[in-house]
Amino acid sequence: MVRPQIGLTTYALGRNGHYELPGVYLDAVYRAGGAPVMLAPVDHGQLATDWVKHLDGLVLTGGYDLDPGTYGETPHPSVDNVNPARDASELALLHVALEEGIPLLAICRGLQVLNVALGGTLRQHLVDDVGHLVPHRTDSDTAIPHAVRIEPDSRLRDILGVDKSESMSWHHQAIKTLAQPLRPTAYAADGLIEAVELPDHPWCIGVQWHPEMSAAQDPIQQRLFDGLVSAARRISDSLPLS
Ligand code: MN
Repeated sequence: MVRPQIGLTTYALGRNGHYELPGVYLDAVYRAGGAPVMLAPVDHGQLATDWVKHLDGLVLTGGYDLDPGTYGETPHPSVDNVNPARDASELALLHVALEEGIPLLAICRGLQVLNVALGGTLRQHLVDDVGHLVPHRTDSDTAIPHAVRIEPDSRLRDILGVDKSESMSWHHQAIKTLAQPLRPTAYAADGLIEAVELPDHPWCIGVQWHPEMSAAQDPIQQRLFDGLVSAARRISDSLPLS
C-alpha cells in the first residue's frame, strides 16, 4: 500500500547551519504508515503552497516561541529564539492546509501557531499567570509528564480512546484567548487548555503536549499519528486521479 506523504515542519536554521527536527517525530509518522517529509523554512513560506499540494497530511511541530507581534503583543523577557522565517512559513502552510482540508496535527508550538493563525492569543510565560500547580516545563531539557483530562464527545476522545492521559509536557507558553473557530478538548488540572480541534475541518487536532516523545512506548500517544495517517489516506484515496 502506498504510504501517505506527511509533511513535518523543521526548526529554523540553527547556529550550526542545520535545519533540524527530532527523529521521534519522523519515527511516529513512519510507524503509523506514513512517509515523513521534512519541510524547512528556507524561503519564509513562499514554497508552502506548492509543498502542501503534494502532501496528504501535515504536522506542525514543537519548537521555540512565536513572535508575539503575530498576535499584537510586545515580547515578555522570557520569549526565546523568535524566528520570522519559521513563523511565516508555518503560518502559510497552515492556511493552505485549512483551506484545502488537509489533515493536520499541531503539536505544542504547532497548537500555538494554529490558535494565533485563527485569531487567538498566547500566555507568553504561563507561570506568571497560573503558577506552578502543574509542572508544564522543567529547568532542564527533559520533558515532564502531567495528566490531561479529555472532553467527552470530542474527536480527540475518539482518537485516544481514554478520558485521561499522562502526557509529556515541555512548554512555557499556552493559549490565553482561544480562537473562536477552535473547540477546547483537553485541560490540565490548573485549567490550561491542552488540546483543541477545528470542527469544520476534516481532521485538525492540536495538542499542547508532545505525543512524539512517548509514542514508541505508549500506544495511546501513537494513536494521534495513526489517526492523522488514516485521515490522510482516506482523503487522498477519495480524490480523483489527475
Ligand atoms: Mn502542559
